[in-house]
Amino acid sequence: MGTLFRIKLYTGNESQAQAGFHAAFERIGQLDGILSDYQPDSELNRVTRGSVNQPVPVSKDLFHVLSAAQNIAEETNGAFDVTLGPLTHLWRAARKQGSAPDAEALRTALDRCGFRKMHLNSARQSVAFDRGGMQLDVGGIAKGYAADEAITALRKAGISRALVAASGDLALSDAPPGKAGWSVGVDSLDSAGQPFTRVLVMANAAISTSGDTEQHLDAGGKRYSHIIDPKTGAGLTNRLTVTVMARNGIEADPAATAVSVLGRDKGLAFVEQKPGMAALLVDRSENPAVVTASRRFELLRSLD
Ligand code: AMP
Ligand code: MG
Repeated sequence: MGTLFRIKLYTGNESQAQAGFHAAFERIGQLDGILSDYQPDSELNRVTRGSVNQPVPVSKDLFHVLSAAQNIAEETNGAFDVTLGPLTHLWRAARKQGSAPDAEALRTALDRCGFRKMHLNSARQSVAFDRGGMQLDVGGIAKGYAADEAITALRKAGISRALVAASGDLALSDAPPGKAGWSVGVDSLDSAGQPFTRVLVMANAAISTSGDTEQHLDAGGKRYSHIIDPKTGAGLTNRLTVTVMARNGIEADPAATAVSVLGRDKGLAFVEQKPGMAALLVDRSENPAVVTASRRFELLRSLD
């Protein structure tokens, strides 16, 4: 999945800790083999190579991720869309080259995208595509799901106090011993080294951050995020950093990506109507940055 996973856990016994790490990383590795778009032979990459309109049976994990993705695509009117592979690959190459793709390349790629061109059949656990040349990219949801699954693998190994972090995506089970929760610092400012302005104390939840601070392309006086606006096919230029808290990673991860695309007003409206969801948005297109929190985020905020 193109990232590093880290696990922190508490248990009274070292061999149990080692068995837990082993089981959790094995599960993450298994999911990488299914969901990675960096591995040419991942199930994700193979599934779009079949014939047009021909349902392809898929694994339980891939089906689960694609179903969750289609749900949030519907809820956000396509702001979150895992069929953007042709565009995300185009922009990945553009970042390497240091220049934005041309309009013709964007148009061709955009034509091969669109969540309504992908059809899931839950009875058959299969997926079909309306046209050839489509490509999936679950980079906005797979890390959150893998973090959830690592937490589940740890629970099966008898470990209930754990934190799994995949760069901007964290999943947490029970609190460390003697604590009310895991302290998660949300850096609402641009520069590293500044103190965390918000500290959340969380357990049995997930938190994901999306934005342009880590992966972006500076070209033609604009900063393009690695997050694509499905309407235009271009990387976002809105300079938003979005942190979303939810019950689990498969909800928090795509929600942070989706809210980045939706922007502040529509994004907050989406978050407010989701049970258990909270968000913090930092808009760095203004100087100083404008920080907006959802109602639930304000309630969760801790002062210690
Ligand atoms: P995240 O870092 O979780 O915000 O996810 C960003 C990643 O998701 C990108 O690197 C792409 O792989 C993919 N992606 C980009 N734009 C979108 C989008 N609009 N909807 C879904 N996935 C996207
Ligand atoms: Mg995400």
